Amino acid sequence: MTEPLSFELSRPAVDPPRLPDANVAGPSPADVLPRGALRAKPPGLPRLSEPEIMRHYSRMASLNYSISENFYPLGSCTMKYNPVVNEAAAALPGFAELHPYQDEETVQGALELMWRLEQALCAIVGVDRVTLQPAAGAHGEWTALRMIRAYQHSRGEARTEVLVPDSAHGTNPASAALSGFQVVEVKSGGDGRISLADLESKLSPRTSALMLTNPNTLGLFEREILDIAELVHSTGAMLYYDGANLNAFMGICRPGDMGFDAVHMNLHKTFTTPHGGGGPGAGPVGVKSELVPFLPAPTVERTNGRLTLDHKRPQSIGRVRSFYGNFGMLVRAYTYILAMGGDGLSQASRDAVLSANYLRKLLDGHLEMPHDGPCMHEFVASAHNLTVQDGVRALDVAKALLDREFYAPTVYFPLVVPEAIMVEPTETESKATLDAFAQAVREIVAQAKTDPQGLHQEPKRTPVGRLDEVAAARRINAYLQGQSEDPVLRWKAAAESPS
Ligand SMILES: *Cc1c(COP(=O)(O)O)cnc(C)c1O
Repeated sequence: MTEPLSFELSRPAVDPPRLPDANVAGPSPADVLPRGALRAKPPGLPRLSEPEIMRHYSRMASLNYSISENFYPLGSCTMKYNPVVNEAAAALPGFAELHPYQDEETVQGALELMWRLEQALCAIVGVDRVTLQPAAGAHGEWTALRMIRAYQHSRGEARTEVLVPDSAHGTNPASAALSGFQVVEVKSGGDGRISLADLESKLSPRTSALMLTNPNTLGLFEREILDIAELVHSTGAMLYYDGANLNAFMGICRPGDMGFDAVHMNLHKTFTTPHGGGGPGAGPVGVKSELVPFLPAPTVERTNGRLTLDHKRPQSIGRVRSFYGNFGMLVRAYTYILAMGGDGLSQASRDAVLSANYLRKLLDGHLEMPHDGPCMHEFVASAHNLTVQDGVRALDVAKALLDREFYAPTVYFPLVVPEAIMVEPTETESKATLDAFAQAVREIVAQAKTDPQGLHQEPKRTPVGRLDEVAAARRINAYLQGQSEDPVLRWKAAAESPS
């Protein structure tokens, strides 16, 4: 790293910024906390002046890479441009300065925004109601599976298995397992789509649900979705839609019309709210009428123009998130939907599909394309050809792209494609950017033939170069077997004492 830790920059002689007294009435901590819980000496925090702290964090921020600086073709993640108007809306004092315990009468505008967002999402995916509580897609999957289970229990059924295709995102089997289901894998056919014969052989009275992504993670539309839905429903099971790929067909077709019973949406993917870095996301879940009684409480209700929070929902699975979900993300997503309008959203999806097909065509013949096109909003290529001929892996291509000032695509996912390189350009990139990216990949593929060794050493221009993953794995293994000191995962002060 080119920036030391604040602890390393710390100088004992510096007077750190002074904070005013807390000026809180009542007893001091020393009066109410047990003696053992009180510090005997001040914590060993770094000592820096206010400008030094400011510069330290600004320098660190400049080491970061983000969608506001350059192209981010991370497959499956829909890294769109985050419009600044969303930020302006979310920063309006009437939204930003609310307190979650405020009386309903004083937050009618915020409740109205939630209600309208719910209406808009219902219309986009074709469901009856939506909960805005879940904090991410994975959380939405878990929430929906809880609702499906509660519904099936209410009918006296104890279904124990959830079917997940082999191309699914890892969160699907994880959510199913976390909800106490057995995960049963369904195989893809040679064309990259779910095998109906395999699905039929795995369906049984034990099946609670099939979780499906459409277009699937290979960027291919499941053309037999109506037959799939009929097959699943004929055994009394439900169909769950992993909506991470909703950017492929907003305003063109709807999961609800395809037969899906429950749907999650990733507002931080399709609806341009910021993404990643551990920040808040939002994963609303839409459901058809049978599941409505089981929605998390409270729901937002509108009667005679007045908005209320309904906590009295006897069959509800309960609250899944503190307060009402990540409200700031809801404001951003609603702003995006209003700014785009229905026609704008469907144009966005058409452009996303066009961009992906354009880029796929530019790279065809340089990387392997394991499945026939055309694709939807993303495609999965493979570096298998480079690996066999020149010993260059998908990882090398990804690292080499970093030196050419592009973020790397998703690699090694989905698992069904060896040396997978998964590219999702989104509709917000220009043709010039797509051309430049394709040019960079072509140069790397050419270098694989002339100088594969050089590629193994990239990136060289990033703050952190190629990590020695083999050494790291060896060291962790040795530690786990008790043969070495613990791996260095955090900074420790020389004088750090157990107290
Ligand atoms: C991103 C993604 C998820 C999980 O969504 P998070 O919001 O990251 O929790 C699930 N499935 C697919 C296909 C995804 O791309």
